[in-house]
Amino acid sequence: MAARPQVIVAGAGPVGLLAALVLAKQGVPVLVLEAEAGLTLDLRAGTYHPPSLEMMAPYGITDEMHRTAIKVPRWQIRDRREGVIVEWDVGLIKELTPYPYRLHLEQHRLTPIILSRLRACPAADVRFSHAVTNFEQTPEKVTVTTRTPGGTEKFEAQWLVGADGGRSTVRHCMGVAFEGYTWPERFVVASTTHDFASHGYTMNAYVADPEEWAAVFKMPDDGPPGMWRVIWPVPPEETEETALEDAGIERHMQRFQPRPAPYPIKYRGIYRVHQRVAADFRAGRALLAGDAAHLNNPIGAFGLNGGIHDAINLGEKLARVCRGEADAGLLDLYVRQRRTVNLEYVQEHSIRNLKRLAARSETERRQNFDDLRRAASTPEGTREFLLVSSMIASVRRANAIT
Ligand SMILES: Cc1cc2nc3c(=O)[nH]c(=O)nc-3n(C[C@H](O)[C@H](O)[C@H](O)COP(=O)(O)OP(=O)(O)OC[C@H]3O[C@@H](n4cnc5c(N)ncnc54)[C@H](O)[C@@H]3O)c2cc1C
Repeated sequence: MAARPQVIVAGAGPVGLLAALVLAKQGVPVLVLEAEAGLTLDLRAGTYHPPSLEMMAPYGITDEMHRTAIKVPRWQIRDRREGVIVEWDVGLIKELTPYPYRLHLEQHRLTPIILSRLRACPAADVRFSHAVTNFEQTPEKVTVTTRTPGGTEKFEAQWLVGADGGRSTVRHCMGVAFEGYTWPERFVVASTTHDFASHGYTMNAYVADPEEWAAVFKMPDDGPPGMWRVIWPVPPEETEETALEDAGIERHMQRFQPRPAPYPIKYRGIYRVHQRVAADFRAGRALLAGDAAHLNNPIGAFGLNGGIHDAINLGEKLARVCRGEADAGLLDLYVRQRRTVNLEYVQEHSIRNLKRLAARSETERRQNFDDLRRAASTPEGTREFLLVSSMIASVRRANAIT
């Protein structure tokens, strides 16, 4: 990139890369600074809702995802003892979206798709092994300090986007509080080739249980037959080592779905889960997006999808500001739209989803199941549930904020 960047993006996760792509496609010189030596490969999100697919389609990303991704038109809420409580058919809202399904593709297969498109843009530059350690701002510019293998390097731009994940350095330097809480239990994720469809599971299913809820996702992995991912909670007193050792994983998998032979396990991981939203997404010339701005539990798959919605919303507005078509006040609209729906939809519904799976009292469990069955029993109830769970309602709400 010849010109000085107008925008620096901290973090080459899906959100930072996507925000940079939106800017670069509109000719805004953008520099992405990533701490790691390459793209992150660990097991993270992998479910995309219809609005996310619509937003990424103009960039050619959605079509490319479809080459390897799995379409999930139907998904279940189950109970470990009772089996299927409701099965939702996203196809029932097909008049609202060209993508009436959830799409499953590992996050680490999405980021290379975005990166290759970004690298094709003359206005973009991506530097790995550049960890942002600090930034300062004046009314005219931001100066970003990085740690690189060769020592400290500084970069200047007009704007800084902090898409540097949950522990965001940019957010710390902005002095913005990360309000919310951390769940006491951690989540284990394990992947197996065992085919849960043979037990009646749809390719995405959430399984309520007072002792150990679970979530199931079929992922494309390296290609057919793909891989089934199972997530379950680990109590605070259990150590990470015990939770991840072979015997512990096997015990959980057998309890979840008994089978005569041991489970073949390809991946395993454990992570902490938070419900947090930054007190503000903007401080002068610095803005936050994705996990840097908000964190939530994965039940409902709102985290990465919400980050994608941030990236597109912010990228489009910041491009207009950079090109002199709008004043910086437009960026406050980004904050109002995205922060509001994160609180109203992502936080509220992800918490509700998790509590529904984990409910312990029999009265609460019965009430939850009755509510779900009632919603599924009428076209209006089904439609309302599908609009919220597919995030169409959250995007409509954001667009209505002026
Ligand atoms: C272990 C784990 C498991 C998850 N599982 C699920 C799941 O099952 N379902 C679900 O919906 N969501 C899940 N999530 C959440 C989902 O993956 C995130 O919402 C998504 O990754 C957000 O993308 P992002 O680009 O905002 O942040 P990230 O993907 O975290 O990307 C941030 C990038 O910034 C880089 N970075 C960090 N600090 C700096 C710095 N100082 N300077 C430069 N670069 C920096 C990081 O290396 C990283 O590449 C999971 C998250 C984690 C961490």
